[in-house]
Amino acid sequence: MSRTLITGGAGFLGSHLCDRFLAEGHDVICMDNFITGNPDNVAHLIGHPGFDLIEHDVTNFIYVEGGLDYVLHFASPASPIDYLKYPIQTLKVGALGTHKALGLAKAKGARFLLASTSEVYGDPLEHPQRETYWGNVNPVGLRGVYDEAKRFAEAMAMAYHRYHGVETRIVRIFNTFGPRMRLDDGRALPTFMTQALTGEPLTVFGDGSQTRSFCYVNDLIDGIFRLLQSDVVEPVNIGNPDEITILDFAKEIIELTDSDSSITFEPLPADDPKIRQPDISKATDELGWTPKIDRREGLSRTLDYVRERLQDRADDESASEPTPAASS
Ligand code: NAD
Ligand code: UDP
Repeated sequence: MSRTLITGGAGFLGSHLCDRFLAEGHDVICMDNFITGNPDNVAHLIGHPGFDLIEHDVTNFIYVEGGLDYVLHFASPASPIDYLKYPIQTLKVGALGTHKALGLAKAKGARFLLASTSEVYGDPLEHPQRETYWGNVNPVGLRGVYDEAKRFAEAMAMAYHRYHGVETRIVRIFNTFGPRMRLDDGRALPTFMTQALTGEPLTVFGDGSQTRSFCYVNDLIDGIFRLLQSDVVEPVNIGNPDEITILDFAKEIIELTDSDSSITFEPLPADDPKIRQPDISKATDELGWTPKIDRREGLSRTLDYVRERLQDRADDESASEPTPAASS
């Protein structure tokens, strides 16, 4: 029986990892301070005999009783509006949090996996991005708090591997989507879906010619699981190479939702990468991994989730409205 700690386990990706590792027969400890995540994401796991939820800020010393086989470090604000709102916490969890999680892995003799990001490539001058590319990051720009924290975290993981012999793995995650994204996290997909379903205009930043490549969450989780079992120490890109402009993406969501919403153009945020597409040949060659769920299929699965959340929101609003008797 393996025992796995997942930091940031109550977030979007962390909660899917909890599901997958429990399904693989692991005992799972989910550790989170809920700064951008929500215990609701793992509420269905409470009471599972192999599952523990611990509220803790991993920038402080992490104490876990008993043995651990794996430490997956996913704690970090991840959407641009989240890390702009929490710049210091983002730097701290990338630096101090990674240090604490690596120290724990070392003490327990556990294998460590770091959630890194395509943001380490910044606004890339190489396209598609291969793992050998060192990136084009503005360290003092608004996104620098996230990008540099992740670059530091990668360096820290490699140092623990080289100097302490810790078994480390680094996944560079490209834009991922699916159920349990927060509708208000500001990322393009939940924003566009919410706008399309509520008849609001879709807010495309810039002229919408910037590109992204969106991966469905189940594919990503499978890639991470394979990477963890592999012997690949250097970073590996996991993402879906199917690239699309943000304007076409907005149009696709309008069409998929059969919405009457229009599109409005708003200023492009500073340092917003103009292009992004993973080169996944390393993941394919070394992990035997390729994404299986195409964007349309992933979008329609996510749409069901967004519809349910919007219905919950409407129900909450109508429940909190004063009754005519109470308001008179
Ligand atoms: P998320 O915000 O849903 O999840 C992050 C979780 O970490 C949240 O539950 C949050 O409360 C928790 N957390 C943050 N700081 C913490 C701290 N100090 N102590 C304990 N918990 C803390 O974001 P996500 O999209 O699930 O991203 C998870 C990880 O994957 C992040 O490290 C992110 O950088 C990385 N990543 C995600 C994407 C993506 O497309 N979703 C892309 C690249 C990288
Ligand atoms: N974006 C947009 N409208 C929005 C939210 C995002 O046009 O309401 C753009 C954003 O500027 C970026 C792309 O969509 O070019 C993807 O943004 P997201 O926040 O989803 O992820 P990231 O920038 O981290 O890739």
